[in-house]
Amino acid sequence: MEKLIFRFNNNGSLGKTESKDILGGKGANLAQMAKLKLPVPPGFTISTKVCDYFNKNNNKIPKKVIQQSKKEIQIIEKITKKKFGDLSNPLLVSVRSGAKVSMPGMMDTVLNLGLNDKTVIALKNKTSNGRFAKDSYRRFIQMYSNVVLGIEAHFFEELIDNYKLTKGVIQDTELDENDWDGLIKNFKDIVKEKTKKNFPQNVDEQLWGAISAVFLSWNSKRAKTYRKINYIPDHWGTAVNVQAMVFGNMGQDCATGVAFTRNPSTGKKELFGEYLINAQGEDVVAGTRTPQNILTMGKFMPKIFNQLKKIFKQLEIKYKNMQDIEFTVENNKLWMLQTRSGKRTSKAAIKIAVDMVKEKLITEKEAILRIDANMLDTLLHPTLDENAEKKIIASGLPASPGAASGKVTFSADEAERLKEQLQDTILVRVETSPEDINGMHAAKGILTARGGMTSHAAVVARGMGKPCVSGSGEIKINYEKKLFISGNFEIKEGDTITIDGGSGKVMLGEVPTVKPDISGDFSKIMIWADKYRKLKVRTNSETPTDTKTARDFGAEGIGLCRTEHMFFDEKRIVSVREMILSKTSEDRKKALSKLLPYQKSDFFEIFKIMNGLPVTVRLLDPPLHEFLPKTDKDINDIADELDISHSDIKSRIIELHEQNPMLGHRGCRLGISFPEIYQMQCQAIFEALADCKKKKIKLVIPEIMIPLVSTAAEIQILRNLVDETANKIQKSHSIKIKYYVGTMIELPRAALRAKDIAKYADFFSFGTNDLTQTTFGISRDDSGKFLNDYVENKIFNKDPFVSIDERGVGELIKIATERGRMQKKSLKLGICGEHGGDPTSVEFCEKAKLNYVSCSPYRVPIARLAAAQAYLKKKK
Ligand code: PEP
Ligand code: MG
Repeated sequence: MEKLIFRFNNNGSLGKTESKDILGGKGANLAQMAKLKLPVPPGFTISTKVCDYFNKNNNKIPKKVIQQSKKEIQIIEKITKKKFGDLSNPLLVSVRSGAKVSMPGMMDTVLNLGLNDKTVIALKNKTSNGRFAKDSYRRFIQMYSNVVLGIEAHFFEELIDNYKLTKGVIQDTELDENDWDGLIKNFKDIVKEKTKKNFPQNVDEQLWGAISAVFLSWNSKRAKTYRKINYIPDHWGTAVNVQAMVFGNMGQDCATGVAFTRNPSTGKKELFGEYLINAQGEDVVAGTRTPQNILTMGKFMPKIFNQLKKIFKQLEIKYKNMQDIEFTVENNKLWMLQTRSGKRTSKAAIKIAVDMVKEKLITEKEAILRIDANMLDTLLHPTLDENAEKKIIASGLPASPGAASGKVTFSADEAERLKEQLQDTILVRVETSPEDINGMHAAKGILTARGGMTSHAAVVARGMGKPCVSGSGEIKINYEKKLFISGNFEIKEGDTITIDGGSGKVMLGEVPTVKPDISGDFSKIMIWADKYRKLKVRTNSETPTDTKTARDFGAEGIGLCRTEHMFFDEKRIVSVREMILSKTSEDRKKALSKLLPYQKSDFFEIFKIMNGLPVTVRLLDPPLHEFLPKTDKDINDIADELDISHSDIKSRIIELHEQNPMLGHRGCRLGISFPEIYQMQCQAIFEALADCKKKKIKLVIPEIMIPLVSTAAEIQILRNLVDETANKIQKSHSIKIKYYVGTMIELPRAALRAKDIAKYADFFSFGTNDLTQTTFGISRDDSGKFLNDYVENKIFNKDPFVSIDERGVGELIKIATERGRMQKKSLKLGICGEHGGDPTSVEFCEKAKLNYVSCSPYRVPIARLAAAQAYLKKKK
């Protein structure tokens, strides 16, 4: 019979079935800690399989699970010498969610379960602490009512706030037993009013209510959003952990805390964390009381502190990874409540990986596989310019590094709305909650008035790799008026601010930034990655600045130089327009001859920077109308400049108009209709090479790329054109030039006919932007309107323009690779669509046996690491 309930105990070893898939992360780690004989309160895990059953069977829990759970509760009773629902020594339990991967704050938890009007008296008598007992009961009512009965939390909070106001106190800790007694009565009245039923007194009813609520929370809106953002499959489900409660709020010899075995912001090997004496876990995370630095524990609780340090070491050795730990001290006894691999910034991830290799905890290969390639993005982007003028308006905790500027917004939905309008925002909240997850994702950075380094905002922002300043107590937020005040500054919604998550500073306006430092540990990881990768990494670039950046980031060539971008330059666009407006081939050639020197010098600059590395130059691709003026004013300007009438230009614009420009007169079709354009471009390439030779610059071997080919005849004709032009230049300049001619594969027909096409091509480069567009028949420019619906309805797992659609587009790539190489073994194969910088797609490219990927300059290091990871995963 399938095992659905698993006990944490220290005598068995963890079997294969007791994996995170079944126990969830939290359950598996609790079981593991128990196995290491660490002090874990007794308890058990209900398997994720039950969640699946629950969701598919009308929210029912199998009978077997109910029976077995009863037995497990009896075992906890035996160990703790307490009894569930007992009137003299009651057992209280926590009920917590725990999915395979951590989803901080996304699902529900109920603590202090087992308290009712009678057991609370027993707890009071047992602990001789009436205040503690009543405080625990009211917390339980609040949590249970919210999580299980669906009553909004603010009803209870308002009652507490009003009561404190009348009593004239500020802190919850200033309320005594009688105060809580009165509030408990009021809480129960709310429950009665909202649910028409009394607050449940039966402890079994409480238990199954809470377990069901945890299963239900798997499908809450916020959990679904979190899964969508993090690509967590819906079918995984959550496990439920039922565990004996331990209390950190029973007096001065009690405490509760969270800690990381290394600093999750910098990666430094130092204890990092916070704790509160006489408090429950939620007090640390909620930010209502300011927690103390864990290092001060050495002074207040030296014995416990030393024990903790020892355990941290043990856990790091066991997991070979930095751990994020929750603990509680109950009457001077330490209890471990959770351990998991800690979320960290990319900077910390790199430092920890490199340090752990030095410490011989992990190998270089493991270090490479440890780092989320996508997260490198945060390191590669600029940080604040130290020399720039800054008007600091507030400061808070440096919760997640990086700098970001944007318009102030106070609501998550508004941040999301503005993102759709391509506006950068900083989400400013008193504190964030899981409901804000969509806005945190949409915003460039997060600023909160409350909360510590382990608050929701800090943890989530670090996970997302977003800058965050938390706990900036000096800012006073007024949601209603949509502004915040900090000292003498009043910042309204829409005003621009800059936050620096590395220093915790908040600044007025947009502060300039500088390039990131990619030396030290970063470069070490890159060196290791280069050692273990097979795929080459090139860049998509057409300007000297981008090309230099890409070279600094380790690009091994240019995989796509989109020459049309060079045409948009202010000085050239007039000649481009003159060329397009020409009526005869003679006029066109005249206009093109004016463009020639510009193109030549563009190529010369790029060839110089690339210093012998391969450069793929793509000949003109977009439809010509893209270069023509759009407004009447621009049309008039160009009419004056070229001495053509306004109406002539207008009629040419009408003539060039296309219903489906992306499927129209573009790519190689332009080369077929107007060969002089491609001739000029080839002449510029070869003459630039001749110049390089003259100036003794190391010669690159250009790879001339013909776009949008679908037939062998197209490439045959255009290859001839390239060869003829090359011959002419070789003769006129008396030089020998080496070059290749190839094509983009960006139409399904080209993939299918790859064998014929390869006859005339030295290389293929998969233009997966267009290939995705044409394979799905989905416009790459208009898909934004419905892509979300497709992801929501699970038609797409991910946006196929971001991560390659392996089954469709991928299949075409495989077909083209196979057929192309069948024709020509030496055929070089690469990818230059946006997918070239996406780690999942890079993994696909490795599997598809391509030679290189090409991506935008800032993604080059990501692709280098992803390529190494792909190779290592393939070999595993
Ligand atoms: C492509 O289609 O994938 C490509 C690289 O070309 P472009 O994006 O310029 O159309
Ligand atoms: Mg294309």
